[in-house]
Amino acid sequence: MSAYPHLLSPLTVGPLALKNRVLMGSMHTGLEDRFFHYGKLATYFAERARGGVALIVTGGISPNRSGWLLPAGGTMNTRLDVVHHGRVTRAVRQEGGKIAMQILHAGRYGYHPFQVSASRVKSPINPFTPRAMSERQILSTIDDYGRAARLAREAGYDGVEIMGSEGYLLNQFLCRRVNVRTDAWGGAIEGRMRLPVEVTRAVRRAAGADFLIIYRLSLLDLVEGGNTWDEIVSAAKALEQAGVNLLNTGIGWHEARIPTIVSSVPRAAFRAVTARIKRELSIPVCASNRINTPEVAEDLIAKGDADMVSLARPLLADPDFVVKAQHGKGDEINTCIACNQACLDHTFALKRASCLVNPRACHETELVITRSSRRKTIAVVGAGVAGLAAATTAAQRGHEVTLFEASAEIGGQFRLAAKVPGKEEFQETLRYFEKRLGSTGVRVRLSHRATPSDLNGFDEVIVASGVVPRLPRLPGIEHTKVLSYAQLLSGSVVAGKKVAIIGAGGIGVDVAEFLLHDAGASISAFEAAWGIDPLVRTAGGLQEPAAPERVRELWLLQRKPKKKKMGSGPGRTTGWVHKLALERARVTMWGGVEYLRVDDQGLHLRHEGQHKTLAVDHVIVCAGQQSVRDLVPVDDQGRVRDPRCHVIGGADVAAELDAKRAIKQGVELAARL
Ligand code: FAD
Ligand code: NAP
Ligand code: SF4
Repeated sequence: MSAYPHLLSPLTVGPLALKNRVLMGSMHTGLEDRFFHYGKLATYFAERARGGVALIVTGGISPNRSGWLLPAGGTMNTRLDVVHHGRVTRAVRQEGGKIAMQILHAGRYGYHPFQVSASRVKSPINPFTPRAMSERQILSTIDDYGRAARLAREAGYDGVEIMGSEGYLLNQFLCRRVNVRTDAWGGAIEGRMRLPVEVTRAVRRAAGADFLIIYRLSLLDLVEGGNTWDEIVSAAKALEQAGVNLLNTGIGWHEARIPTIVSSVPRAAFRAVTARIKRELSIPVCASNRINTPEVAEDLIAKGDADMVSLARPLLADPDFVVKAQHGKGDEINTCIACNQACLDHTFALKRASCLVNPRACHETELVITRSSRRKTIAVVGAGVAGLAAATTAAQRGHEVTLFEASAEIGGQFRLAAKVPGKEEFQETLRYFEKRLGSTGVRVRLSHRATPSDLNGFDEVIVASGVVPRLPRLPGIEHTKVLSYAQLLSGSVVAGKKVAIIGAGGIGVDVAEFLLHDAGASISAFEAAWGIDPLVRTAGGLQEPAAPERVRELWLLQRKPKKKKMGSGPGRTTGWVHKLALERARVTMWGGVEYLRVDDQGLHLRHEGQHKTLAVDHVIVCAGQQSVRDLVPVDDQGRVRDPRCHVIGGADVAAELDAKRAIKQGVELAARL
């Protein structure tokens, strides 16, 4: 019997018979924005359909120009759009999949001057101020939704998802936060939900009775001026009446200051609100947010909290998620670690999305892994993520690969990262690689520091020997109070109650989190820490966050002047979460520091022109890293002189190294050897 009988059981949703309970949630990849990328988009979706997902939802496609997320964003309003989208739907159908197009009107989240909203209320995350829609504009927008749905049907889509959450236009109309209208489209919930309901009716009229309509409703707005539970239930019931076949869960507006998808959010953290709305409706309900393993998904459906699960980023990480679950290979899934580094961070930087653990995501036509015509012998030095990615990809291609690792375990720096509270998911990547080393037949030599003689006779040598922590030149650096981040995270020493951290980069911030929190917060602890009322008794489901217990007194230090973002680390979409957490824990953050020395008294430094002594128990050094290149044969100019030798990851360049670059370099190199 399958390990996931509920997850893999069929379900009828409106007019569609689905083969299992997995919906691929909508994600903006950047491929939807320019019509010349539709071939790439088709290949990307076809790979997920082949991987067994029952129903795919595309990234947001606007019904008209004012609804664009970005200038020249994907739109469905002309015959040419039907032709382009037809490539996508045909590719999915050929793989036996089903696909719905998401209709998204960004409202005041549109990053362009044509944006409109319920009222002239500017968003804190957008420089443009929207125009309040006139009655005429509202009516023509409703028509535009209808036309988009009709054209989507002509393009071969099985249905549409109406995006009504995350603070986009329909959510803006639904909540007092933005809707301060006094006409029939505002006021009490009956007026505020009129646009979402009329849009749904128009879509049903235009696309016909046998066309799937999903509505993504915000079940927790997590912003002031959001809805209460009674208002959410009223809207959900009215949408069901208007013709919705499947209700999908939306959590939190984009401008909310409560994390909803980053790795520190517990898995399935928002299942309770989905379960609650399900009891109010007779249509199926889909759960979303931080569902990244088949076990979690199975549990949600088996316990009756949801009828389907929406997996979005997990299907970037592994297009074969469902097929692997079906074949009892759940432990071979390349799990999404909720880092946002290659997906959302890229989207916000206007770059094409991809995935840290799967650099092929959204690059399926460009990064192709083929069987090699010649079987080579390949040595890989170092089982950090760069070496692991290179070794397993090369072996998948048919090469004979030997992987040398100096320590007793694989993982390198990434294993240290997994010790940080909120980064426990990183362990899943190491589990995946461990499994894949076995399935691809890599010969692994642990506890073996490779020497030049080990590398003789191989056709190719990949040096992925990574980095070691940099110790700055500072009087007293050898004092027993001083530890590197590696010594601290590996657990060889327990830090005292007062700690100074030298370096406020990504690792400095992580070390602060490590010193402040325990690993693996429960859902209720997460809710209390961030001020979430899961019963949504107050507008937006907000309550006063619990004051964090002060387990240590910390100083986070850097030499650069202090800027607004100090304490946020490198992640664009995750940094604010770290910064808020450190501020709430009252971590002292100083920039413009000059380090003087460490002695029995503590850390001496100059700050704001004054000599200060921090009477700390420990000083943790997070001052960057240095490449390990002792096995790289170089000439006088520092060029690699052995044509067999390839250098990747931290061994290649230590500055601005992260796991995204390390894995990508490993896969790309192995794909061409
Ligand atoms: P390494 O991880 O340094 O691996 C090199 C390996 O080579 C080591 O296992 C070493 O033992 C081995 N080795 C060296 N010499 C030899 C030899 N002669 N023979 C055999 N083996 C040898 N990155 C992100 O992208 N996102 C994050 O959120 C993130 N958080 C982090 C948090 C922390 C606390 C830390 C420490 C790092 C974090 N990173 C993060 C950085 C990321 O982990 C590294 O960039 C990445 O792991 C580097 O991989 P690598 O394979 O190049 O090198
Ligand atoms: P980093 O981000 O470059 O930060 C290094 C810190 O050390 C800086 O604050 C720097 O600030 C300080 N420093 C540098 N040289 C110093 C010296 N000689 N003396 C004292 N201080 C010095 O590097 P990192 O924190 O080691 O992180 C390594 C990599 O891992 C980064 O590239 C990062 O992207 C990645 N990472 C990513 C994440 C993530 O969440 N995405 C998390 C952790 C790590 P001053 O020079 O101003 O003092
Ligand atoms: Fe998940 Fe990170 Fe990949 Fe995004 S980049 S899909 S968050 S693993």
